Amino acid sequence: MKIDSPEMTIDSNCKPQWDSYKADVFGKLKEATRRLAKFEAMQLRKRTLKKRDSTKFAFVKMQIASLNATICNLRRLEMSAQVYALKDTSQNPAKGEGGTVYAANSDQIVFYVANAASFVHETTHGGQYERGEQAYDSTTGGPRGDDLFDEVAAYQAEFAFDAAQVKGLKSSSKPKSFEAVTAVWVNDLKGPHESHPYSDTGSAKIGRISITINSPKASLCAAYHLWDPPWLKTLGNDSCTLKSCYQNLKYKH
Ligand SMILES: [Zn+2]
Repeated sequence: MKIDSPEMTIDSNCKPQWDSYKADVFGKLKEATRRLAKFEAMQLRKRTLKKRDSTKFAFVKMQIASLNATICNLRRLEMSAQVYALKDTSQNPAKGEGGTVYAANSDQIVFYVANAASFVHETTHGGQYERGEQAYDSTTGGPRGDDLFDEVAAYQAEFAFDAAQVKGLKSSSKPKSFEAVTAVWVNDLKGPHESHPYSDTGSAKIGRISITINSPKASLCAAYHLWDPPWLKTLGNDSCTLKSCYQNLKYKH
C-alpha cells in the first residue's frame, strides 16, 4: 500500500484511539502549563520559594519538557514511512502485557497498550526505533538492541504523563523524581506475571548497557553477556554491527 498522507502512517483502524490518547497528552501539558504559571507567579511574589514548592516547580518544568518531547515523538511516528498500529494489551499473545513488537505479516510496528500512560511508554520505544536505538528481528518480531536505558527513557516519559501510575509499580523504591527512574529501578521492577522481567534472570533479556543498531559486536556481547544469544555468534567479525551484519534486521533506513 502506498502511503501518501502523513495520517496514513498510523493504521486507520487505530487512528481514533491514537488521537484520543494524544489528546490526553495535550490535556496533561495544558494542566502542567497552568501549574507552571502558578509557581512562576508565586516566585515573583515571594522571591524565594519554600523547599517543597521549589521541588514541585522543578518537577513541573521537567514534566513540560518531557510532555513536549512526547508530542514531538508522536508527530514523528505519524509522519514516518513506517506504519504503526495500536492494540489493547488483552490482544498481546505475550501474556496480555504491554509491549512493542514488529508484525511481519502486516509490516507494522504494533504497540500493545492498556491506557494513555502505557501509550506514552510504548510510543517512546517507537521513537527509539525511528532513531536506530532499537530494531526488530524481521521474522520473529522480537526486539534487537533494546536495553535498560531504553526502558529508563520510556518510564521517564510515562512518569511525566502520570507519575502516580509509575509510583504504583512494584520496584525497590517509589520514584519521587525523574532522576529516581534509573536503570537500577527498572532492573528491580516487578512484572505482573513474573518476578523481575528486566533483571539479570528476567525473561526480557534486555541489554545491560546502552546499545544501538550501530553498536559494534563487542558492545553487543557486553550488553547481552548474561544470555549469549545464538544470533550474536552469527554476526561475524568484531567490526560487525547489528545494522551491517544481522541477517533479518527490521530497522529504520
Ligand atoms: Zn518498555
